[in-house]
Amino acid sequence: MYVLGIDIGSTTSKCVLLDQNRIVKATSLIKAGTGTAGPAQALGQVCKDAGITEQEIKICVATGYGRKMFAQAQEEISELSCHAKGVYHLFPDVRTVIDIGGQDAKILSLNPKGQLTNFVMNDKCAAGTGRFLDVMANVLQLKVEDLEIEAGKAKNPVKISNTCTVFAESEVISQLSRGTETPDLVAGICQSVAGRVGALAKRVGIREQVVMSGGVAQNGGVRTAMEMTLGVTISYSPMAQLAGALGAALYAYEKYEKER
Ligand code: ADP
Repeated sequence: MYVLGIDIGSTTSKCVLLDQNRIVKATSLIKAGTGTAGPAQALGQVCKDAGITEQEIKICVATGYGRKMFAQAQEEISELSCHAKGVYHLFPDVRTVIDIGGQDAKILSLNPKGQLTNFVMNDKCAAGTGRFLDVMANVLQLKVEDLEIEAGKAKNPVKISNTCTVFAESEVISQLSRGTETPDLVAGICQSVAGRVGALAKRVGIREQVVMSGGVAQNGGVRTAMEMTLGVTISYSPMAQLAGALGAALYAYEKYEKER
């Protein structure tokens, strides 16, 4: 018996497959999100890795921006609920979740039972999201995966004064033409994201333990900048980008237990 959680985001599709003992059997991540073949590929990949057929999945719960478009799901649950559940499962002492994805950022406040008590969200502006980092990585001819290493080499991080992604892109190009070192620019870019999201986080109030989830959590440059901005230690799991899919899979498991 298997249950599946699928998180169909703006830029990526993620699956988490749980077995009858609620143990993670396999995961998948495809760099293509809603409106593409990404969700079907992520499903195919997770089944292949687990060595099972799609028919062996008893219940599927979908979450994320594209959750309403996935016909195989029996239920759709919001990203907020799924991220809260996934992160709480990984970090039972979590009180604040900072989730930065490809096109939005959310701050979630949880109570000791893991229930969502408050949240704020930015889904209007690319600044303070993965999109900002993707645009800047492209200008600097780097992969997003390499931003962390570059930021770590910075000697004098450059402050990016424009918040708008389009203007900030021009600012980075002009800094490059002035001979500014790439690591100093990357550190400034990470600080810019941390500054934007940190200001949002302060609106809900920061209570420890603070955990970062979503794809951008993998960027140690942003995590370090966020720790400095908020003055707290930030916890992080290598499952950060899969937290929403994990939460969806845990909801699927609960549904299976109720129905059997
Ligand atoms: P969504 O759910 O909206 O599709 P994700 O939570 O999957 O978004 O996050 C996607 C973002 O994560 C990308 O825009 C990118 O900036 C960032 N990202 C993805 N993989 C990595 C990585 N290995 N290292 C650093 N950043 C990453």
